[in-house]
Amino acid sequence: MSASLAPGLYIVAGPIGNLSDLSPRAAQVLRDADLVAVEDTRMSAKLLRHAGSEAPMLPYHDHSDERVRTRLIERMAGEAVALLSDAGTPLISDPGYKLVRDAQAAGRYVTTVPGPCAAIAAITLSGLPSDRFLFMGFLPAKAKARADTLAEVVALRASLVFYESGPRCADSLAAMADLLGDRPAALCREISKLHETVLTGSLSELSVACTQKEPKGEIVIVVGPPGEAPPAGADEIEAALVEALTRLSASQAASEVARTLGADRKALYARAMELKGK
Ligand code: SAM
Repeated sequence: MSASLAPGLYIVAGPIGNLSDLSPRAAQVLRDADLVAVEDTRMSAKLLRHAGSEAPMLPYHDHSDERVRTRLIERMAGEAVALLSDAGTPLISDPGYKLVRDAQAAGRYVTTVPGPCAAIAAITLSGLPSDRFLFMGFLPAKAKARADTLAEVVALRASLVFYESGPRCADSLAAMADLLGDRPAALCREISKLHETVLTGSLSELSVACTQKEPKGEIVIVVGPPGEAPPAGADEIEAALVEALTRLSASQAASEVARTLGADRKALYARAMELKGK
């Protein structure tokens, strides 16, 4: 049993490419843990060596045999179990959600050692609004499912963050341009590694660039929020007012059109009275 860690589950964020990004606390937890649950033992062996950890590893996936999860949760009663992903923060497009859920339900101590995450790194690098964003994970590969997913967020006033792979980039960007509108976007590649690059442009420009040269390595696409709708024209306002007058009083029609189209209520009321008089 670990001399320095309380029994329980330790969610440990690892680097997303640059080993030096492993935090000192994360390295300490990996050294002191009784057991490290990992996605891939070969991938994690390198990081454990770097951290100076000799803790035994156990492969874990949320779709693993339920008995593996149950056994891990039993062990957390008396041992410190660390959860580590191949890259970045566990649970973020990586295994761990069910383990955390069931450990909490069993009353185990659960804590996190936060650190690198490609989605967060990309939003900071993108030059796009970072006040509101939605993490979308990987888009479905099939065109229909991809279109359905994009349709769910088309009107959302937030930046969107997608994980992507090089071969799918051109198609995904073209679908986004088509279904979300040709918004500004950033393709963030190989973050924290030697060949880190950020390519910015409209979705259609980035799609063309990826068609001409398939991007290599690991990729996050960030898409800016939809632009403001263009102000309504005089004809549109007049038509809305005429329609509203078929249902409402002049005062109510003016208020409704002012609210929905952002026009001046006083002018609308005057026009509504004129139309009524005709
Ligand atoms: N758990 C990880 C995290 O915290 O970001 C993500 C794991 S997910 C299986 C792997 C995806 O994350 C990659 O396909 C890529 O989209 C993104 N990714 C991971 N490392 C990256 C990096 N260094 N640069 C750009 N994208 C990266």
